[in-house]
Amino acid sequence: MIRGLRCTSCETAYPLEPLYECNQCGSILKADYDYERIGIKWAESGVDTEDLLPLPAAERVSIGEGNTPLVKSDRLAKRLGLRHLYLKCEFANPSGAFKDRPVSMGVSMAVKFGYGRIIVASSGNGAAATSAFAARAGLEAVVLVPEPTPQEKVKQSLAYGARVVKVEGPYSNSFAVAKEIGEKYNMFNVTSTFINPYTVEGDKNVAFELHRQLKNVPDVIYVPIGAGPLLVGIFNGYEELKRLGVTGALPRMAGIQAEGCSPIARAYLEGRDQVQSDPSPRTIAGGICDGLHGYAKDGTYTLETILRSGGFANYVADEEIRAAQSWLAQDEGMFVEPSSAVSIAELVHSVKAGRVKPDSVVVAVLTGHGLKDMTQVQTEMNAPLIPNRAQALADLLGV
Ligand SMILES: *Cc1c(COP(=O)(O)O)cnc(C)c1O
Ligand SMILES: [Zn+2]
Repeated sequence: MIRGLRCTSCETAYPLEPLYECNQCGSILKADYDYERIGIKWAESGVDTEDLLPLPAAERVSIGEGNTPLVKSDRLAKRLGLRHLYLKCEFANPSGAFKDRPVSMGVSMAVKFGYGRIIVASSGNGAAATSAFAARAGLEAVVLVPEPTPQEKVKQSLAYGARVVKVEGPYSNSFAVAKEIGEKYNMFNVTSTFINPYTVEGDKNVAFELHRQLKNVPDVIYVPIGAGPLLVGIFNGYEELKRLGVTGALPRMAGIQAEGCSPIARAYLEGRDQVQSDPSPRTIAGGICDGLHGYAKDGTYTLETILRSGGFANYVADEEIRAAQSWLAQDEGMFVEPSSAVSIAELVHSVKAGRVKPDSVVVAVLTGHGLKDMTQVQTEMNAPLIPNRAQALADLLGV
């Protein structure tokens, strides 16, 4: 029951149309629903979160994204000193990352609006997701990635048949080129920042699923953040559930970044309400290496959401990320890419500093699969070669 779009700043209303910012004030746009009608319907026939999405399931381009497992952590939780740690396995999405959620919504709207071509700027996972969903929809995809994007993500995108182009410099350069060319040549821009007001709606499904999978609203949800639409989408989803009387509480949102790319976390830690971009970010966590150069307002919008939730932001060092990546793999059997491990790295500090209590209900969103970025896996991890003799194995194992 979407009504249209509404400006998050001056509240100007717009019909359902391809629009990337408020024509009046240039601010971020957000989907607007008829909550009164939804409330009446839900009172009669029960909760149906489909009513909070921009278009019905039958009109969505889908490859079976979403409905990812929520797994209770055992050994890792113990290591961290937590009793109720849940891992939301977004790496189980069809393209191997949560980006299938925003992109499926963006590509579906492109079909609805009659576009033949889609453009995206991505650090790699949005690229793969866009390539996959464009293929599924029979649309052409132009995919821009920064030069240092992992080979795995580039090749995956190429495999789906997309036009993949590397743009020199950091991610923000790809963002600017996609924005300009998309507008000039009428390609629908599904970049997962806040430029496309429909994509973030797909991220709300994480909240709706968590609501079904957990009995209660978690105390804190840990999310790795680039510009932050995943975090904002999850919180928006919970706010809508609360507004409609489905839940009484809201989770605190923890936005986690890497030390070498931490514009939002630094603003939070320094008590600033405006995020400043970082023109030359550097971290092994490529999926969240977004310096927000030219669109720092997206980071400010995410920071506002974090503060509204009573949550916090922080950053962790690359070595801590590597350690957390190993724990997830070796304690839980979950191999994730470095970006996904920042939440676990931060949890060490969170427990020590009392930001979470040992019995807090904590969800960590594991955003992307480890196979997406194998160059970051420690190179000394080599399998020894033995001659083709059984005894050689016994000798090696010392059994
Ligand atoms: C895109 C991405 C993120 C960050 O999500 P945003 O919604 O851009 O803040 C985190 N982890 C991975 C693996 C990603 O690909
Ligand atoms: Zn406005």
